[in-house]
Amino acid sequence: MAGNRPGADAVAKCDYCSTTILFGGVRDGNARYCNQRCHQFGWLLARCNDLPDELVDEQVLNVHGGPCPRCKGPGPIDVHTAYRVWSLIVITATQNDPQVCCRSCGRKRQLGGFVFSLLAGWWGFPAGLIITPITLTRNVMAMFGGPSPDLPSTQLEQAVRMQIGAAIASSQRDSAAAPPTAQPLRSTASR
Ligand SMILES: [Zn+2]
Ligand SMILES: [Zn+2]
Repeated sequence: MAGNRPGADAVAKCDYCSTTILFGGVRDGNARYCNQRCHQFGWLLARCNDLPDELVDEQVLNVHGGPCPRCKGPGPIDVHTAYRVWSLIVITATQNDPQVCCRSCGRKRQLGGFVFSLLAGWWGFPAGLIITPITLTRNVMAMFGGPSPDLPSTQLEQAVRMQIGAAIASSQRDSAAAPPTAQPLRSTASR
């Protein structure tokens, strides 16, 4: 509870999404978040890194060798990211869309991202003209490259950690009827 640092509020950034917090936000010890949603994700992420490796590894292998959560087809399952960009005159916005799915589902989304960006990416100056070819290339590289089918990627491990953490958090929330706010539930015991 040594969180009294006057002046730290002047340019606060969200500890989860790095958005600059102009006013308000959520405080948790020394951490600041722009809203409740970021607070919960940030809290979850910190907790997930404390999960025992054996538990995570086993679950990662289960997911990697299991059926695709999207099409129920055969694995291997991993994180496949599609990339999108759109522009409107002076605005150019990009979006990375990682999904836990099979390669075939991943390729469909990446093809979708490619076509979307090909149509919507160019219409901003100058960023659209620079970022659109980069985004198209990233989709093509992801379609033909992507994670190795033999081994779960670290991205998959992180996604599985988040999943386990979310499941634990929601079961604890249900039983304790308390929101996962300022109190990390068991992490003080390990210090
Ligand atoms: Zn945030
Ligand atoms: Zn699939």
